[in-house]
Amino acid sequence: MELSAYRTQAETFVRELGEAYHGHYAGLSDAFAIDAIYARHAALFSFEAVAALRGRVAAASDAPGVRDDEARQLRMLLDFAVEGLLGRATAAEEEALAQREATLRLDLPGGPLGFRASTVAQANSPDRQRRAEIEAARLKATERELNPLHRAALERTRALVAELGWPSYRAMCAELKGWDLDLLGRQGDAFLAATGGAAYGAVVGPALERTVGVGLDRLARADLPWFFRATADDGAFPADGLLEAYASSCRGLGLSPDGGGRIDLDVEPRPRKSPRAFCVAVRAPADVRLVVAPVGGRDDYAALLHEGGHAQHFAAMDAALPFEYRHLGDNALTEAFAFLFDHLVEDPRWLAARGVRDDDGALAMHARAARLIYLRRYCGKLAYELIVHDAAAPGDALLGEVYARSLSGAVGVAWPAETHLSDLDPGFYVAAYLRAWALETHLRRWLTDRFGDDWFSSAEAGAALRALWAEGQRRSAEELLAELTGERLDLAVLATDLGL
Ligand SMILES: [Zn+2]
Repeated sequence: MELSAYRTQAETFVRELGEAYHGHYAGLSDAFAIDAIYARHAALFSFEAVAALRGRVAAASDAPGVRDDEARQLRMLLDFAVEGLLGRATAAEEEALAQREATLRLDLPGGPLGFRASTVAQANSPDRQRRAEIEAARLKATERELNPLHRAALERTRALVAELGWPSYRAMCAELKGWDLDLLGRQGDAFLAATGGAAYGAVVGPALERTVGVGLDRLARADLPWFFRATADDGAFPADGLLEAYASSCRGLGLSPDGGGRIDLDVEPRPRKSPRAFCVAVRAPADVRLVVAPVGGRDDYAALLHEGGHAQHFAAMDAALPFEYRHLGDNALTEAFAFLFDHLVEDPRWLAARGVRDDDGALAMHARAARLIYLRRYCGKLAYELIVHDAAAPGDALLGEVYARSLSGAVGVAWPAETHLSDLDPGFYVAAYLRAWALETHLRRWLTDRFGDDWFSSAEAGAALRALWAEGQRRSAEELLAELTGERLDLAVLATDLGL
């Protein structure tokens, strides 16, 4: 295998996939023909390519003379090849799932509702009964129409992992990504223990009462989207102020909203444009696309700032870095920088600087409760995914029970079993998110210590961030933190940050 040719083709593949994704979700093209892109670059994801890269990774880790960077890059390429191999093998199910989700109609009192539109309708419905009806119909459709496809994809993945010679998907991800998933699982359990019981009720109870009108004891899972949506706070987050919130945050840090011409900021209304902001690094750092359809509301602000954080990170990378450090590596890094931006929406000082007053503390109370629910949900999800992807995973019926029990315990509401197969992200992304939340908390403190509570208005803070961004994703979250502050990454910091 010619490594430089592999790398060049991998970058072409990433660019073509990024362009297709952008075109479809920006509403520029109906087609989303990723199959053809995979087919064109099939050699990247063959068993032979994986075997060749594996051989090189093994040789690089045995040989004392091999440069650290060479070993790093090889491992990133191997991870990319394996993920692509599995992605290709389950592409038919993925496409069928996307198609069914796009066309499924839910039978509801008052008329049918599209499967995808139903989540938006549920989050925006002030009527508890209606929310429960929508959720029940969606869960029924999930079990009947989607789960057979999810099941087939999971089984194929497991079979391929075994064929590739790993004992489990969990073991494979831990090795290829260099993550200590066992340790992270223990940290997740510790976080759940430290933030549960009366402490949990005290944080989320009053916020739920205010938005949903019931406490934790009467809350239903179907109410959670309405809670997160928090329409009562829309006045503080108007649609026409959304872009300026992002642009002024960039300017405060001495950054340009368009990344010096590298970020294509698309705000044009288009009928098929995704209602949720997204960012695609088609070719980092020179071609980064940030797509927004301003809707307004806190969630929308958080989403644009989050995606804007990704965009700034990608656009600030050193163009001379190898492909692996610009497009692969530890995604906990780009997620941490994105969280750093979207966390601003929770910062009373950032809000005050934009003329938003929170005299009765209701915005802060909601933000803290929403954050705790999210973090606990993800810790529950991690505990479940460690079981699904373990060599000794139980059968499907039992998995549904494990999922429901794990999520019910973490979130404190009766959680349905039907989503136990759709609530799985490839590549243990749940672990990237949790590590990113922890890293973000450290980064925020590091910035506050050096540049003050208003670090987001400091060009020096922006310069410090740019220096980190320039390195791309060469280092892991653990390595970055060790170098910045000498600390070890631990989810415990998230409980401390919440005052728990
Ligand atoms: Zn993100």
